Amino acid sequence: MSETRSSEQTTASPLIGETQLYIDGRWRHASDGSTRDIVNPATGATFMTVDEATPADATAAITAARRAFDHGEWPRTPVAERAALLRRIADLVAANRAELSRLETLDTGKTLAESLIDLTDVESVLRYYASLVEVTADRAVDVGNPAVISRVVREPIGVCVLIAPWNYPLLQMSWKIAPALAAGCTMVAKPSEVTPLSTIAFVLLCEQAGVAPGVLNLLQGAGSSLGPALTDTDDVDFISFTGGLSTGRVISATAAQHITKVAVELGGKNPHIVFADADWESAVDLVLTGVFLHSGQVCSAGTRVIVEESIADDFVDALVTATSQIRIGDGLDPRSATGPLVSQAQLDKMTDYVASALAEGAVLRTGGGAPESADRHPGGYWFSPTIFDHCDRSMRIVREETFGPILTVERFTTEAQALALGNDTDYGLAAGVQTSDAAVAARMTRGLRHGTVWCNDFGYYTPAAEWGGFGKSGNGRELGPTGLAEYQETKHIWHNT
Ligand code: NAD
Repeated sequence: MSETRSSEQTTASPLIGETQLYIDGRWRHASDGSTRDIVNPATGATFMTVDEATPADATAAITAARRAFDHGEWPRTPVAERAALLRRIADLVAANRAELSRLETLDTGKTLAESLIDLTDVESVLRYYASLVEVTADRAVDVGNPAVISRVVREPIGVCVLIAPWNYPLLQMSWKIAPALAAGCTMVAKPSEVTPLSTIAFVLLCEQAGVAPGVLNLLQGAGSSLGPALTDTDDVDFISFTGGLSTGRVISATAAQHITKVAVELGGKNPHIVFADADWESAVDLVLTGVFLHSGQVCSAGTRVIVEESIADDFVDALVTATSQIRIGDGLDPRSATGPLVSQAQLDKMTDYVASALAEGAVLRTGGGAPESADRHPGGYWFSPTIFDHCDRSMRIVREETFGPILTVERFTTEAQALALGNDTDYGLAAGVQTSDAAVAARMTRGLRHGTVWCNDFGYYTPAAEWGGFGKSGNGRELGPTGLAEYQETKHIWHNT
């Protein structure tokens, strides 16, 4: 944390004002004046300083959200007006795409092309929930008595705490804010302290679109300091968390003391299974994009490629050749295919995983450290796309989520073995299968115990289909109708006329 701020730094974006906490419809500094430096991962240099909330600010935000829910208009606002507000926000996101994506790239290191895709998806999720909430109807129930009108209705669940990670800062937050607003909830949003900028800008756009005071409150700051105020309270009705497994455990345990509903979207260790009959070029391309997009810092990254033995040597050679051509550089440089890691901590973690993989007998085929060319800022968090061959489940690198650009290769000889390997993980977020055999595709896609299974594709999703994990990848669902239902209570009204 830094103690000083320069107005030059804080006004570096037209979408980020002088104060960055938004509580009860007012932009403020932290109650104790704390700030945090925001670092560009491509240079390692601070480029902006933002307010860092205190636990007292977090309590003030929850109190504002509680008041807006209990006494404000928003939970009782007609659905058509709620949908119209979501569409106004989507229009403002579209109008500010360039600046929002620039902030996302400066903050995360991902390429501008990747940030622009995120922005398209943010807009889509807002429009999707605007449309869905308009057509979500009450359900009439026949209770066998004509004098009784029985209806099951959906009501907003209440005050929501929305906690997001640093890898898809605004995208992940929009998956929470859009359904929460659509449902009529009030909320406190806390982006990752590593990457708060796009969410600050987004909240400014929400204010411009007409979100009422107290409905959407924003805090920046470390989860370890704000977490207790946000989760250890009876004033919150639902916590939607996306982040790591260990944080998910802490939040779930705290919320349980208050019987607060929690949805946790956690990590993944995602298998990508390639059969010998797969379309070769497409499989190489999908395996590499699937693992190296955003430098592998993707919950659904296909980090374990599981290849049929008969093609494995040639397939791995093709992966290694293509990987060596991936251009790493500043995300703002249009020539870069992939950017730096988000932080020094991530870089240290990758270095540790490489050492552990080598010690456990994995064979390094490419990468394993910083790229050689001097064509990058020396202070950036650079790490080359890395491939380890001849891996197995005894290795940490195969069991644990590395959350970086490291691909491990395992081999199989039978379909049953491929399925067993694909399911041999504590996680269960996503999996991929490459095959041209429709019967194999049908058996594998049903047999894999993961929340999303792609066949002859990898990494795609749509706001209309649920996203979430089996096993230790989480217990809730975002997107789709279930993603809206998470923010709603169900009420049965029995009216004897
Ligand atoms: P993290 O768990 O360290 O932090 C996530 C968020 O939780 C941050 O905002 C952080 O400040 C906050 N936090 C930390 N401790 C807290 C506490 N005690 N109480 C309340 N909040 C707290 O995770 P990260 O490093 O930001 O993100 C990476 C992880 O997120 C990976 O495991 C990745 O797989 C996962 N992820 C999952 C999905 C999904 O859809 N399942 C999507 C993106 C990322």
